[in-house]
Amino acid sequence: MVDVAIIGGGYVGLWTALAIKAERPSARVIVLERDVCGGGASGRNGGFAMSWWPKISTLLAIAGKGDALSWADESVNAIAEVGRFCDENQIDAHFIQGGWLWTATTKAQLDAWRGTMDVCLRLKKKPFQLLDAPEVARRAGSPMHLAGVFEASNATVQPALLVRGMRRVALQRGIEIFENTSVESLNTGAPSLLKTPMAEVQASAVVIATNAWAMAVPELARLMTPVSSAIIVTEPIPERLRSIGWTGGESITDSQLMVDYYRTTRDGRIVYGKGTGVIQHGGYISEVFSQDPVAQTLAETDFRRTYPSLLDVKLVDAWTGPIDRTYDSLPVFGTLKDADHISYGIGWSGNGVAPSFIGGKVLASLALGLKNKWSLCPLVGRQCRSYPPEPIRYWGGTLVRNSVLRKEQAEARGETPKWLDVKFAGLAPSGLEDKS
Ligand SMILES: Cc1cc2nc3c(=O)[nH]c(=O)nc-3n(C[C@H](O)[C@H](O)[C@H](O)COP(=O)(O)OP(=O)(O)OC[C@H]3O[C@@H](n4cnc5c(N)ncnc54)[C@H](O)[C@@H]3O)c2cc1C
Repeated sequence: MVDVAIIGGGYVGLWTALAIKAERPSARVIVLERDVCGGGASGRNGGFAMSWWPKISTLLAIAGKGDALSWADESVNAIAEVGRFCDENQIDAHFIQGGWLWTATTKAQLDAWRGTMDVCLRLKKKPFQLLDAPEVARRAGSPMHLAGVFEASNATVQPALLVRGMRRVALQRGIEIFENTSVESLNTGAPSLLKTPMAEVQASAVVIATNAWAMAVPELARLMTPVSSAIIVTEPIPERLRSIGWTGGESITDSQLMVDYYRTTRDGRIVYGKGTGVIQHGGYISEVFSQDPVAQTLAETDFRRTYPSLLDVKLVDAWTGPIDRTYDSLPVFGTLKDADHISYGIGWSGNGVAPSFIGGKVLASLALGLKNKWSLCPLVGRQCRSYPPEPIRYWGGTLVRNSVLRKEQAEARGETPKWLDVKFAGLAPSGLEDKS
């Protein structure tokens, strides 16, 4: 019998385990991970540690002004907490607070941040700094960047080093971690019985921290849709980075809905990702969520377009991964109906590196039955718009996704997209940033 069983050994599961141990050192906490810790999205993401400021309009709609402001601030604090945790525990996860450049790389993307900037102005907050166009191009190292704003609080990490460092600290603090241990069933009785191929565990409280794989829980399956994101990595090119002027450690995105996100690494590579948005029927997480040559080619095409001076640079690695996308692209926390000892935190929507720190506090508080600012966070138990049932979700989602792709490809070629593509693309939910 354990006090808390956490399913999933990514950032969310591990932050939760660490927060529980900090709050209640005597608690017996286990993490059950099907793969190795970090084998899911936490070990293979883009490494952007971002705030929730680009989602301030959505936060306002969910939480009202006071709470929206304090949770946006909390998300900035989470970035610093990741850095502090690394420092205090000698985790060299390449944490660099180089800020985030939110840019436009086509005319159609210009001013994508306008709505967010206006909301910030109304709130008398200034998380973003408007840069002039030459400055954006200079910092990003390519004239393809036509305009942009800068959020200085953002950082980057080497994602796998972070999650493996967290695993080490968790073990040192007495958290028991079982890797290669898949939870195959979970009953809702209290205590719950969790079955794995090797053993059964009884737990007073359970935390579901399985990211996109939470699709396996029927009650959660319509809260999100797993969509793919693809990453390519170049050979080391430190001198070329110096010559194009991208030396400040900035993370960069464009403003496509199928967003391009890119950063440099300590050894002078470019990691270039693209939200490719592939979905599968029933939210099934197939092999295309690990390797997908088509999605990887989309990322490469955008990389070559954005950095024409690096056309000769070789790519040395590529992969894909699942993003647990909610309709409004903010996470949702709660407890299962009729089982308030089973909590969940899902729907990170491509922004989980830093916010998962908040998630750990929230889920630890829910698991321990605490009434505090974390368990009362407005993202807990919120009425999240759900996706339609199958087959509408798959066929409708694919139609919209393909329209977005064609529209944004036409815009990148400087052409006017077809009106039907524009119409269907308009049905897409918002992405990493609120729509302007
Ligand atoms: C390609 C890509 C790029 C991304 N880029 C960024 C970025 O730059 N910045 C950012 O903030 N976010 C990014 N994200 C999102 C970010 O990686 C996630 O939000 C974050 O890692 C979520 O952590 P998690 O612990 O919820 O999920 P995960 O790390 O996926 O952990 C869930 C774990 O649950 C395990 N699991 C599933 N089912 C079971 C089961 N039945 N039994 C036991 N274990 C199970 C899985 O193996 C997995 O390890 C990206 C994601 C991807 C895929």
